[in-house]
Amino acid sequence: MPASCPAAPLVPGSPFFHYADGHLMAEGLALADLARQHGTPLFVYSQAALLDALAAYQRGLAGRDTLICYAMKANSTLGLLQTLVQAGCGLDIVSGGELVRALRSGVDPGHIVFSGVGKSRLEMRQALQAGIGCFNVESLAELEVLNHEALALGRQAPVSLRVNPDVDARTHPYISTGLKANKFGIAHEQALAAYRRAAALPGLRVLGIDCHIGSQITDSAPYLDALERVLDLVQALEQEGIALEHIDLGGGLGITYLDETPPAADRLLAQVLQRLDARGCRHRLLLEPGRSLVGNAGVCLTEVLYQKPGAEKNFLIIDAAMNDLPRPALYQAYHAIVPLQLDTDATPVQYEVVGPVCESGDWIGRERTLAVRTGDWLAVCSAGAYCMSMASNYNSRGRAAEVLVAGQSAQLIRQRENPDDSLGLEPPLGF
Ligand SMILES: *Cc1c(COP(=O)(O)O)cnc(C)c1O
Repeated sequence: MPASCPAAPLVPGSPFFHYADGHLMAEGLALADLARQHGTPLFVYSQAALLDALAAYQRGLAGRDTLICYAMKANSTLGLLQTLVQAGCGLDIVSGGELVRALRSGVDPGHIVFSGVGKSRLEMRQALQAGIGCFNVESLAELEVLNHEALALGRQAPVSLRVNPDVDARTHPYISTGLKANKFGIAHEQALAAYRRAAALPGLRVLGIDCHIGSQITDSAPYLDALERVLDLVQALEQEGIALEHIDLGGGLGITYLDETPPAADRLLAQVLQRLDARGCRHRLLLEPGRSLVGNAGVCLTEVLYQKPGAEKNFLIIDAAMNDLPRPALYQAYHAIVPLQLDTDATPVQYEVVGPVCESGDWIGRERTLAVRTGDWLAVCSAGAYCMSMASNYNSRGRAAEVLVAGQSAQLIRQRENPDDSLGLEPPLGF
C-alpha cells in the first residue's frame, strides 16, 4: 500500500476480504470493479471463504461417521448451496420452499433434515415423497400428523425428536432457543414419553435425537452442557430398548461481527467428540451450522447517495436499506462498514449510516467514523448470513443482485430484481 494511504480498517472474520493498495478485494478481484459492473446494492461472496469455514468442521470431524447439514435458512441462494453440497454438505431445511431449492441444488435427498415447529401436511407429504433423511419433530401433535401422512403414502417417516435441553439461562443468558420458555423443541421431562409414542406409531421410524440451543453462540460451554443433557436421554432411551442411530447437535456457532471470539469449529468439535468418547457414544453425529459457514463469506456493496449534516447527527444515506440488510433493524445487530477505496483526502466524520426506506428503523450502522464522499462505495461486512435470505421488497425495492467470487473469477448467482418481477404476480383488477 502506498505510504499516503490511511490505515486500512479491519474486515472482521475473513482473510478472503482484504485491502491491496488501498482497494478492498474479494479473493483476487477488486470489489469496486464488481460494483461498477453489476451496480449496487450488491452481495458478493467468496467461495474460498465458504469452503474454508466448512473445512474447519470437516477437520474437526475427520474419521467419524458424520453429516454436516448446512442450515440453508441462513442463505439459500442456489450458487451457495451448490458450492456447499458439492463439498459434501447435506442440508437442513425449514419449509417446502427450502425443500424445492435443496432438491435443485443436487443434494442427495437422504442428506436433507427437515426442522421447524410448524410443518404443514403438504410440506410433510412433499418431503416424504422426496425421500428426505430425517424429520426433526418438535411436538407430540406433529408426531401424530406425520405418522398419519406417512401411512397415507404407504411410507415410514424417519424421525428425530428435537428436545429442549433447558440449559440454565443464568449461566448462559445469550441462549435463545434452548430454554423451557420458548416455542422450540420437546421439554426434556416429556422427551421419554414422546419417544415411547413415536416408537409405537407404525408410520414412523425413530432414527435420532436433536437439539438446537440458539444462535451466535460465542462460547463452547452451552454446547457441552446441552450435549450432556442429550446424552442422558440417549442413555435412558437405550435402557427402554429405543436405540438411536444419530445425535444431531444443531447449529448456532457464532462469528466475528466486531470483536467476538467464538471457538473455531474444529476446536469446539474436539471438545464435543471428547465428551462423546468419554461416554462410549459411537452414534453418527449430525450438525446443522448456518451462520458460521456463510456469515463472514459475504459482504454487501453499497453506494453513498447523500451526506446530510444535521443539528445533532450527520446522516450518511446509502443505497442499501433494511429490506436488504434487516439485521440492524430486527436485532440491533452490528455490521462493520468499510470503504471499498481508501481515500486520503476525505475528512473522517462520525455518521449515522441509514438507508432510503421510509422508517426510522432503517439504519445500518450507528456512530461510524468514515472518510467518504458522495458516490463512494462501501462494504457492509459479515453480510453472508441472514441478510439476503431475510431480504424483502418493502418500499417496492427489488432485491439486490448476488455475485460469487472464486479466485479471479466472478459469477452472477442471482440477478437484481426489477419491479416487473413482482408485478407479474399481480393481475390487473378485472371488476
Ligand atoms: C437456524 C437453525 C440452525 C442454524 O443456526 P445458525 O445459528 O445459523 O448456525 C440450525 N438448526 C435449526 C433447527 C435452526 O433453526
